[in-house]
Amino acid sequence: MAARGSRRSSSPADRLIVLARRAGVRLVRFLYTDNGGVTRGKLTHVDGLGQRMADGIGLTLAMQAMNMLDQLTPVEDMGPVGEIRLVPDPTTFTVLPYAPHAAAMIVDMRQQDGTPWAACPRAFLKRQIAACAQAGYSLRAAFECEFMLATRNPDGSFALLDESLCFSTVGMTTSARVVDDIVAAFEAQGIEVDQFYPEYGHGQQEISIHHAPALAAADRQVYYRETVRGVAFNHGLYASLAPKPFPDQIGNGAHIHFSLWDRSGRRPSMHDPSDVHGLSRAGYHFIGGVLHHLPALLALTCPSFNSYRRLQPHHWSSAYTSWGPDNREASVRVPSPYRSDVAGTTNAELKASDASSNPYLALGGLLAAGLDGLRRGLSPGEPVLVDPGNLSEAERAARNIRRLPGALREALDNLEQDAVLTAALGPLLTRSFLAVKRREWESFSKEDVAYEVKHHFWKF
Ligand code: GLU
Ligand code: MG
Repeated sequence: MAARGSRRSSSPADRLIVLARRAGVRLVRFLYTDNGGVTRGKLTHVDGLGQRMADGIGLTLAMQAMNMLDQLTPVEDMGPVGEIRLVPDPTTFTVLPYAPHAAAMIVDMRQQDGTPWAACPRAFLKRQIAACAQAGYSLRAAFECEFMLATRNPDGSFALLDESLCFSTVGMTTSARVVDDIVAAFEAQGIEVDQFYPEYGHGQQEISIHHAPALAAADRQVYYRETVRGVAFNHGLYASLAPKPFPDQIGNGAHIHFSLWDRSGRRPSMHDPSDVHGLSRAGYHFIGGVLHHLPALLALTCPSFNSYRRLQPHHWSSAYTSWGPDNREASVRVPSPYRSDVAGTTNAELKASDASSNPYLALGGLLAAGLDGLRRGLSPGEPVLVDPGNLSEAERAARNIRRLPGALREALDNLEQDAVLTAALGPLLTRSFLAVKRREWESFSKEDVAYEVKHHFWKF
């Protein structure tokens, strides 16, 4: 994604303009992701790029009070008066392989004086990254997304691409062309692909990408969603990363793989060869913090009404607070590392996460929770080596294994009560996020499943 320079130009902005012109770019998207998890933006013509990189593009404050149904929610200090600036981060510049003559950058939301706006999700993640550095660590992460490919019926409903079986070659065949194009589009944008397979659900795919430092990981999640939807659309297909776009099918996770490294990002800090599970003290404490805060953190990692249709016992999505080595029903799985690089591949995976999240809020929340675990030396408890859904209520209670919230409203109430997460978010972001999401909950809870699915299907 990083822009390659030209020897003649001086500033990063100049170099980008040269790059954009050489690629034939006409319009450049300035993209942000809002409290509703929706990526939105404004575009500048390439002729104005230099000026707009310096000044940003204006945006009404009220957009952070808008939910995923475009309902403007009353939030104090977010009315029709007042404006912020969308100022792009040049390191996120990418030419878009799925749109003609188009490029994109991810923006920070800044006040008129250039300082970060208190309701900017990307600034929130940056603050958590800085707090992590202060604690002596850095975090690398990757969102591991599943998504479904569908065609559209004449009545507007969606039909899944195939009825292929899990990991089956039939699924590889039916999706071969579009998946090849998606992988090519990732390559063109510098997003390194790890693996692909047809997943368990009909028409369901999983393409995993390399982990990256936390900020870049969140930026990549934005581009990932854009790319999958964009390339699919060009193939006459609709891609949905929504948590449960087809209620009778398995859900789509966007599991967050994360690992702690030293402050420089060069030395892995999650592994200890002397530990029975190969985890370091810091690793245990960080996971302990994530599990401790999970019932509230969920409001950030699984933040849509539809998210809670996915988080059911025995659906491999996780439904309880628990962790376990290679346990795919645990909310935090510790996958077996690769023998060729045990320390460098030791990581944990938060399964209670989906692609309806704002990745900056999800990852920032995960960092705030984990850092609290580090600070307080929290323990994740004993590993769970069975499906926690098969334990009795009494066994779960004895092991402090809690059922995750069953609805968005409950997760939002937990978030409001969580002093660590709300302090990290700050008052304006907390207030606006809760208001936007509560309005979503109210709207969807009055409607039926068809309405819910329709409105989640292709926003995410
Ligand atoms: N589709 C499952 C989910 O909703 C995950 C399956 C797996 O990759 O383990 O998270
Ligand atoms: Mg999967």
